[in-house]
Amino acid sequence: MPKTDLTEYSAKRSFSATPEPKGELRSASSGPLLFVIQQHAARHMHYDLRLECDGVLKSWAIPKGLSLDPNDKRLAAHTEDHPYDYASFEGVIPSGQYGAGEMIIWDCGVYSPDEDQQYWFHDRAAAEQRVREGIEQGKLSFILRGEKVKGSFALVRMADRKNWLVIKHKDRYISKSDIAEQDRSVFSGLTVQDLKTLPVPPRVSIATLIPTGEVEAMPAT
Ligand code: MN
Repeated sequence: MPKTDLTEYSAKRSFSATPEPKGELRSASSGPLLFVIQQHAARHMHYDLRLECDGVLKSWAIPKGLSLDPNDKRLAAHTEDHPYDYASFEGVIPSGQYGAGEMIIWDCGVYSPDEDQQYWFHDRAAAEQRVREGIEQGKLSFILRGEKVKGSFALVRMADRKNWLVIKHKDRYISKSDIAEQDRSVFSGLTVQDLKTLPVPPRVSIATLIPTGEVEAMPAT
């Protein structure tokens, strides 16, 4: 596994003041790679797309969120790697802290790099290698299997190297509908607005959101 580190993530946060998870690397795991999209009511509302790779979550802040319309390219600002445990974070980052504001788990599921209808859901090492190389080269094609978002997307880095575009590929999941209208957490059912007044739901393990583990054969009977 290539070296990853969460130094930037940890340096930006004070863990005595924020309920966000500490910057700990995840040890090797099995099963398909996880993705999460968190809606984050920070100073500017945005959606954080996070793709698991090499024990961390590779992250992009997308002001308008994903679009299912291939003609509607969305700006995605590359941000620091987040710890794997961040995928199950839903709550309120206190004012004065980095990224202050409410955050919900807007969508989550599993993902794989893809190419010509080929996928790597069942080969984690190969999937991670393709993701790693795609990010390095500034062009990553991947398919999401979430509750709200399904289908193939491209992340393409622009010349400034900081900003990327996220673009829906043409497949059977394209749509002109605005998926941002589905504004409730897939975990708690709350909206970011709800979190301004309602108590924060207790933390869960990400395993309760996404089935993980070894593939088992179907029983014979
Ligand atoms: Mn954010």
